[in-house]
Amino acid sequence: MSTNKELFLKHLGQTSSSPLMLEIVKAEGVFMYGPSGEKYLDLISGVSVSNTGHRHPKVVQAVREQVDNYMHLMVYGELIQSPQVKYAEYITSFLPASLNSIYFVNSGSEAVEGSLKLAKRYTGRSKIVSFENAYHGSTHGALSVQGSELYRNAFRPLLPDTFMIRFNDADALSVIDDKTACVIIEPVQGEGGVIFPEEGFLQLIRQKCTSTNSLLIFDEIQTGFGRTGHMFAIDRFKVVPDILLLAKAMGGGMPLGAFVSSAEIMSSLTSKPTLGHITTFGGHPVCCAAGLASMKILIEEELIGSCAGKSKLFRDLLQHDLITGIRGEGLLLAVQLAHPDFVRYAVARAPEFGLILDYFLFCDDAFRIAPPLTINEEEVSLACLQICKLLDDARTNGMS
Ligand code: PLP
Repeated sequence: MSTNKELFLKHLGQTSSSPLMLEIVKAEGVFMYGPSGEKYLDLISGVSVSNTGHRHPKVVQAVREQVDNYMHLMVYGELIQSPQVKYAEYITSFLPASLNSIYFVNSGSEAVEGSLKLAKRYTGRSKIVSFENAYHGSTHGALSVQGSELYRNAFRPLLPDTFMIRFNDADALSVIDDKTACVIIEPVQGEGGVIFPEEGFLQLIRQKCTSTNSLLIFDEIQTGFGRTGHMFAIDRFKVVPDILLLAKAMGGGMPLGAFVSSAEIMSSLTSKPTLGHITTFGGHPVCCAAGLASMKILIEEELIGSCAGKSKLFRDLLQHDLITGIRGEGLLLAVQLAHPDFVRYAVARAPEFGLILDYFLFCDDAFRIAPPLTINEEEVSLACLQICKLLDDARTNGMS
């Protein structure tokens, strides 16, 4: 009989030549477990998804209760489904007043697609500005605004009229003009290796968009729901976009995304043509119930406020001569090593040290630390101890 490993390689579409290939049979809190009792401390949260940990009892309970009532009923936007309504109300209570209308979708990429269409529809323009090293997803529209020529070139032709400029380059903002439909930006670049905007950069973009009547889209798919020590990064930067994108942690471990805007802007999807964006499963009631429970946990367990202390503990305890720097805030950290070979080695070997680590797409000399926000200080200490042992091993064996 074939093993799961053989079946995985035979029947699942593969996009990586070196998948981690760990079999996981259970996940709880900050840990994942293998079939023979192997225990891994999850320092990635499924890439900033499991912000309230795996299978938080309140999330599991919300899922069970919703499944007992109903699952899928109808394509998005026709029937009144209380999990969607309640979650939309709760999220908007954390957002600036202008961001009061939520369109629920299935994923981050779909949120990006919806937002680009909305911006084109609302402004009647087609030009889109995005940033080098940005990651907005893998569908065609999202790929068109992705900041990597390597990925874009492989799939041309893509969306026309897209312009890529450098992050943190104020002079480059002159490309934003009265033909621009929108500027799409991650307030903190995730896959670029946790790159923060320089003081005033987001404000400059806001001014430029306002003066040219272009829409500003903030992609908070990775930074949202407490990850950087704020519910949303817009709270930290005090810049209000015209459209906000959410996904990943939004569903508490279930697939859910959204684009959020003003009711006025959003209404341009309702006419000429009607049904400007259609989704069958977007805002699935079980996902919305899970997401609402998860977002409430962030508040009830004061997980956002405790991020800064845990972040500092990581920085204090991660002392190793291979580490050349640590970037980031809250529990979104990039640990920079002396050479990309050490990063490749450390991520691949991390499970042997009881850890799940990950790379960044566009930053080869750093690895990511983004654990569930529920991680406690003892677990942070354990993680750092194991990372230092892993780096000792990488120093001896890591250079290819
Ligand atoms: N935007 C950002 C900032 C992301 O980090 C990601 C995924 O990593 C996406 C968009 C795409 O989200 P999804 O994989 O759910 O389509």
